[in-house]
Amino acid sequence: SAIELVDVVKEYLAHGEVVRAVKGVTLDIAEGEFFSLLGPSGCGKTTTMRMIAGFEAPSKGLVKLLGQDVTNVPPNRRDVNMVFQSYALFPHMSVWDNVAFGLKQRKTPQEEIRRRVGEMLEIVDLTGREKRRPREMSGGQQQRVALARALVNRPRALLLDEPLGALDLKLRQAMQIELKRIQREVGITFVYVTHDQNEALTMSDRIAVMNDGLVEQLAGPREIYERPATAFVAGFIGTSNLLAGSAASGVLKVGGGRVLVPGHDGDVSVTVRPEKITICTDEPGAGLSAVRGSVTEVVYLGTYNSYTVSLTDGVEITVFQQNVHDAAATAERGDSVWLSWQAQHSY
Ligand code: ADP
Ligand code: MG
Repeated sequence: SAIELVDVVKEYLAHGEVVRAVKGVTLDIAEGEFFSLLGPSGCGKTTTMRMIAGFEAPSKGLVKLLGQDVTNVPPNRRDVNMVFQSYALFPHMSVWDNVAFGLKQRKTPQEEIRRRVGEMLEIVDLTGREKRRPREMSGGQQQRVALARALVNRPRALLLDEPLGALDLKLRQAMQIELKRIQREVGITFVYVTHDQNEALTMSDRIAVMNDGLVEQLAGPREIYERPATAFVAGFIGTSNLLAGSAASGVLKVGGGRVLVPGHDGDVSVTVRPEKITICTDEPGAGLSAVRGSVTEVVYLGTYNSYTVSLTDGVEITVFQQNVHDAAATAERGDSVWLSWQAQHSY
C-alpha cells in the first residue's frame, strides 16, 4: 500500500487544554488510488493530512509510506507533495518558472526541465500560457498551475486539502472532472480532503468519512451512499429519513404503519433514502414497509419532485419522485397517502 496510518492520534495543547484533533485513525491507501477524507469542518481532516505530509508529528501511532515507517521523517524527505487551497504560487514568477521551480532547485539538467515542464503544462491544459503571471489567470487556471508544480516533481502521492474551495460551483464541478482525468493520466496516489459530499462521491475510488476525530466508515462511494454504516454517515451523505422505535419480530410499528426490519428486535433506528420511497393512495402489500401520512409540501426540482409527508405520529419524511414529462405530480399538498419501500432499502 502507498500510505498507512496505524491508530494515529493527534493532541494539541491550546490555552492549557488538551484538544484531541485525531482520536485514533487507521487507514490503508492503495497505490494509484483516488482516496478522499470527507467530513464536516473541524473533524480532523487537515490534521490527518498534515501528519501524512510530515508537517505534524502524531502524538501516538505510526505513519507508513510504501511500507516504510516515516513517522519521524521530515516532510522534505517524504515522497509526497501537498497542494493547498490558497495555491501558494510565486506571484512574481511566470507560469513556466512556477512549475520549473522545484526542478531547478534540485539542479535538474536544463533539457530535462524543459521536457518535464512542457509535458506537465500539457496535462493540465495550460500550453500556450507559459509566460503569464498568476494574477493574470483565473482561479481555475491558477489551481492547475499549482497542480502542475506539485506533480512535476513526480511524487509518489499527492495530498490535496480542499483545493477547489475557492472556486465557484460551475468551475469546481469542471475541475473535479479535470482532476480525476489528471490523476488517471499520471497514475499516482491522490489523497483528497473535502467537506463536500458530492465532490467526494464524484471523484473517489474510496472515501473515509470522518466525524469528531474518527473514521466512521471507509468504503467506495456507492457503498457509502447505499449502505451508510452509522446514522452520522447516513445524515451527512445525501438526504435520508430516520425512523426509530421498538421492533417486535422484525417489525417496527411507526407512522401509522410498519417498517420491516428482518432479524431485528428491540430498539432500532432505520434510515431510508428519499428516492427509494414510493407514494401511493392504496394500502401497499404486506411484503413492503408502509407508513401513512399527509403531504405537507411539494417542491418542483426539475427532473424530480421533493415531497414532505407528515406521518400520523408527526415524523416528517422526504420523498423524491422522478418527474415524467408533462405528467401531473404524484400527489398534492393536503393529500392523504401511503409511503412504501422494500425492506432491503432501509438500513
Ligand atoms: P478539518 O480540517 O476537518 O476542518 P482540523 O484538522 O483543521 O479539521 O482540526 C481538527 C480539530 O483540531 C479542530 O477542533 C481544531 O480546532 C483543532 N486544531 C487543529 N489545529 C490545531 C492547533 N494547531 N492547535 C490547537 N488545535 C488545533
Ligand atoms: Mg481543514
